[in-house]
Amino acid sequence: MPRILIFSTTTGYQLRSFGEAALDLGVELTFATDRCHSLDDPWRDAAVAVRFHDEDASVAAVLAATADRPADGVIAVGDRPVVLAARVAEELGLPWHPPDAARASAHKRLARERMVQAGLPAPRYISTTVDADPIDLSRRARYPAVVKPVSLSGSRGVIRVDTPEACVAAFARVSTLLSRPEIRALRTGSEHEILIEDFIPGREYAVEGLMSRGAFSCLAVFDKPDPLDGPFFEETIYVTPPRADAGVRRAIVAAVAAAAAALGLAHGPIHAECRVSPADTVGKPPQVHVLEVAARPIGGLCSRVLRFTSDSSSVSLEHVLLGHALGERVAAARDDLAAAVMMIPIPRRGILRSVAGEDRAREVPHVEEVRITAKQDQLLEPLPEAGSYLGFVFARAPLPIEAEAAVREAHRRLVFTVDGAIDVRAG
Ligand code: ADP
Repeated sequence: MPRILIFSTTTGYQLRSFGEAALDLGVELTFATDRCHSLDDPWRDAAVAVRFHDEDASVAAVLAATADRPADGVIAVGDRPVVLAARVAEELGLPWHPPDAARASAHKRLARERMVQAGLPAPRYISTTVDADPIDLSRRARYPAVVKPVSLSGSRGVIRVDTPEACVAAFARVSTLLSRPEIRALRTGSEHEILIEDFIPGREYAVEGLMSRGAFSCLAVFDKPDPLDGPFFEETIYVTPPRADAGVRRAIVAAVAAAAAALGLAHGPIHAECRVSPADTVGKPPQVHVLEVAARPIGGLCSRVLRFTSDSSSVSLEHVLLGHALGERVAAARDDLAAAVMMIPIPRRGILRSVAGEDRAREVPHVEEVRITAKQDQLLEPLPEAGSYLGFVFARAPLPIEAEAAVREAHRRLVFTVDGAIDVRAG
């Protein structure tokens, strides 16, 4: 039975989907995680304990734990584990993203540097640290600008600013966020680094794809129909196929392929975000700025929005990824229905007391699943400081616009009661 190593910081839904796909495919999964103590880890007996900040010891631990039968493939779930997965793949001689490419993909300054070196469109940026003089930085920035920490993900700490005063305030806010104990505990080595870059206007798209020995193939392009103009950048709805015409889609796919190549990403899943600005000259292709290429698949429950047809059966993204990790040529195509997922936004900071209307939300035509993931009495903290979601709504329909309308209607039927939280943070 082939063995695949899965590197992950979470014990959640996506690992379950990998588990189900592995059963279908007859693949043994071995988990490498820093959450071995977690009680809800269904595979905790088998997991290898790693520390993502301690790469050398973690590589050694994984190799030792799998020495009897080395792995045939690796997968990283989430942003943090991509570098360790790449280092283990390199040790085992498995095709995957090279470690330095994986590192650059998870580090916003390194990613920008590589894109600029490759001559790709990239926002002008100022690279700085938390101890720099914010007044001086605010004079050097061009507005509108975006202030962001280099090594967080999920839009945490990403703030649009339109004036020097707002830039100074955002800089302080991001610095405070970076000083939080839970962020320092990640020990990324870049907790002090901040970027200030030009704001790129335009419609945003996400791309799910695969690199296969250096060649990019696109699994899906997602439209983000809600404008993401700031000041914070909370994801809400993804719809596929996108409303963009064929020329725009081709430009998006070409730009993501070029950005992945510029980072050096070679083999394995990628998830990219890009912005498309209208062409300034009629007849010219639109300008695509790739904001980010992550060396991992779309996160968490969201991957359920994708279904593929392979040998006339319907399979999950995780199924496709396990096959790819074992070196299979991917012959799967996204199924014919349009699909949408809503990541239910947190309305405000507070304690989640109750959720009502789930049954009524499920009754909306085309809605396939309504899943509330936030727990009762949980403290909800919105972006930019934190940003999980209340849950997810999935819909499939003949037309993208129907799938999008369905998730919006289901969301309208949900009622969340959130109490004001007592702020126990110092300062
Ligand atoms: P993360 O890795 O935390 O998701 P990103 O750099 O991808 O950070 O930024 C998150 C979101 O913030 C993007 O998807 C986009 O909507 C917005 N954003 C980030 N940088 C810019 C920019 N320079 N111009 C416009 N929007 C941006």
